Amino acid sequence: MDGIFSSDVMALLGLLAAVLFVLGLKGLSHPSTARRGNVFAMVGMAVAVGVVLLHPEMVAYGWVVAGLAIGAAVGIPLALRTPLTMLPQLVAGFHSFIGLAAALVAGGMFLREDALGSLDGRAAVEMVVGAAIGMVTFTGSVLAAGKLQGIVSGRPWAWKGRHVLNACLVGALVACAVWFVLTLGWVPFVLVVLLAGVMGYTLVAPIGGADMPVVVSMLNSYSGWAAAATGFMLEQPLLVIVGALVGASGAILSYIMCRAMHRSFISVILGGFGAEAGTQEHRDTGAGEVRQAGVEDAAFMMGEAERVIIVPGYGMAVAQAQHAVKELFNLLSGRGVEVVFAIHPVAGRMPGHMNVLLAEADIPYDVVQELEEVNPRFKEADVVLVIGANDVVNPAAQTAPGSPIYGMPVLEAWKARQVYVVKRSHRPGYAGVDNPLFSMENCALVLGDAKAVVEGLVGGLKHG
Ligand code: NDP
Repeated sequence: MDGIFSSDVMALLGLLAAVLFVLGLKGLSHPSTARRGNVFAMVGMAVAVGVVLLHPEMVAYGWVVAGLAIGAAVGIPLALRTPLTMLPQLVAGFHSFIGLAAALVAGGMFLREDALGSLDGRAAVEMVVGAAIGMVTFTGSVLAAGKLQGIVSGRPWAWKGRHVLNACLVGALVACAVWFVLTLGWVPFVLVVLLAGVMGYTLVAPIGGADMPVVVSMLNSYSGWAAAATGFMLEQPLLVIVGALVGASGAILSYIMCRAMHRSFISVILGGFGAEAGTQEHRDTGAGEVRQAGVEDAAFMMGEAERVIIVPGYGMAVAQAQHAVKELFNLLSGRGVEVVFAIHPVAGRMPGHMNVLLAEADIPYDVVQELEEVNPRFKEADVVLVIGANDVVNPAAQTAPGSPIYGMPVLEAWKARQVYVVKRSHRPGYAGVDNPLFSMENCALVLGDAKAVVEGLVGGLKHG
């Protein structure tokens, strides 16, 4: 017996935690199993923390408890107070902590091993990798969170020399890393930390607002690799496994999102996308060409329809209109209207944003359809109700080669007989580009806050 449990039991518990994490990830692949997946992952994390605390070399419980208390004191209020619409920046903020933790562990290990005189080449490689990935993740995530929160401009940094600068930074970073491994000196180590910190900034700065979902997922992947590197440093196989799971799943999600936006991963990473769009923020799209409709008209048309498709977007999240939308769904279904929800992979401000809101309102999963499945159905729809979505229904993505969103797959709402778009003004969406859908013959805006308008539709259907 090494501690309370034998090392075999500890290894088995570690394996159990790893299996629970894999089951957790698997569960997260579909909304209907996501809750169970989260439970698996939480139990896995509890087991993992237990394994660490029961480790025979664990002596400083005071520090661990203090760390847990500080983390909980910051994390719990943040998680409780942050509205869903601000989740992407919260996630980016959390990634920055993982990156910083990896860099601090690398620094701490360097000081310890250096003082003990036990620093060797293998440990140096682990430290330099942990410090470099950690610092890139840290500064990159802080900038991404700032852009998403609007503290820093979301416009991409379009300076032409940025690729040369990044290439030089990569070269200098690799050179300093090799220098450190060969000499084990603190000067190259500090240079690696500084260069990686600058690189995090220069890698994320050129990427514009419209590509931020991919950046957040990419930083998620980096934070996983940073954790894996920390696992090697601390000789914690469980941390290596968890880090690799996060790193790989983040990379796969980034790839899937790029495919959904019809962009190549490389073009996203190289940045510059949305430079023109950034200058168009809050531009009026020309009210003269756009028709408007009243809530009563829209309610009447929906009540008379056979098939209705509802397209939720960021505005539904802002207005917290999902429960009113559920009531609308119940009323229409009760009248025999076939209602389907069309979900775009990047609708809202984070992957799965709309699925989470619709699930929260208990909208059945079988009426929620993804882009490929629902697009052929728009031409058969009598009414499409777009609730606070804009970019994801923009036909310019198919028709305007000069548009910054050209090539992005979109929900083909305009093919329906009648389209109603619920929004508060004539302003463009997140990408900052005009939406020709609004001035089409079969489209009308229903102006107002999404929740108030949907409640109005519910009232209209009840009393109409
Ligand atoms: P958009 O941001 O394109 O459009 C949202 C629309 O909602 C706006 O036109 C706005 O118009 C309207 N709106 C805002 N608040 C309200 C409200 N209270 N009531 C009614 N309407 C409201 O959203 P989409 O969902 O169509 O597209 C998502 C965009 O966000 C894409 O460009 C995507 O690339 C990007 N993105 C996606 C992320 C993700 O992971 N899903 C993460 C980060 C960015 P008005 O102001 O006139 O009301």
